Amino acid sequence: VGLRLQPAPPDFGVRFQRRDLAQAPVVRAHHDCVVHTAYATTLAENGVTVAITEHLLAALLGVGVDNVLVELDGSEIPIFDGSASHFVNLIRKAGIRQQPALRRHLKVTRPFALHDGDSYVSISPGDSLKVSYTIDFPHPLVGRQTTVWHLDAFSFARDIAAARTFGFLKDLKRMQENGGLRGGSLENGIVFDERGMLNGGGFRYPDECVRHKVLDLLGDMALAGVHLLGHVEARKAGHTLHHRFLQELIRQPKHYELMDSARPVLGIPHARFVKQPLVHLPWRYDFPPL
Ligand SMILES: [Zn+2]
Repeated sequence: VGLRLQPAPPDFGVRFQRRDLAQAPVVRAHHDCVVHTAYATTLAENGVTVAITEHLLAALLGVGVDNVLVELDGSEIPIFDGSASHFVNLIRKAGIRQQPALRRHLKVTRPFALHDGDSYVSISPGDSLKVSYTIDFPHPLVGRQTTVWHLDAFSFARDIAAARTFGFLKDLKRMQENGGLRGGSLENGIVFDERGMLNGGGFRYPDECVRHKVLDLLGDMALAGVHLLGHVEARKAGHTLHHRFLQELIRQPKHYELMDSARPVLGIPHARFVKQPLVHLPWRYDFPPL
């Protein structure tokens, strides 16, 4: 699959363009376009689909890109190594330009939660985006992991981007028997068998699995189309619950206010209505070899 990120004007948002189809139709990165949330988040508009959107959307949110046209000549965003590292590196090389417009935020003013059995996603008021995530898998290398993470200028690239998706051999075998994950391999994420990890090289972070869940959650919350301000807490959730939570939250306007904000972006002082030169971002995190 070929993928190209094209600059876009203010208030464009993130849109995917299927260049392999006649008339190159566009699918918006919007929560109303979600059609499938098992294992990954698939979007569709007018019958045109784009699958595995969450890692690219997380990278865009994490490094502060609001407006971009994602050109694609296939139906799936490339999985690469199962993390967002490649996307962050590509965006780093391309550079980011600050635009003469205010960023739109959804600021939570009253707590809101959605439960499903012992899984939940909740949000409580806060002035910035903070995510707490807990997972619990009965596996010797995973177990119970909790992480608390704040979005700032460098924290996505440093703390989250390199965390790979993970799966269990027994589930992958079942999915492949059912025709899924045909191209899946140890190059595309972490695979656990009953006792250990099949990949060489070990973890990139000691708690890589729960960090990847934060990555997935950010990618799914990016479908709000605005930046969430508040403390998101999730436990044993996944794409399906992330998506249901976001849709329910947006239907509850008593729990939030929408505001335009001139908050500093990416550590660059915000200059309203001043055209900024292309900024090549400083990065503090060296990605592990891929
Ligand atoms: Zn993922």
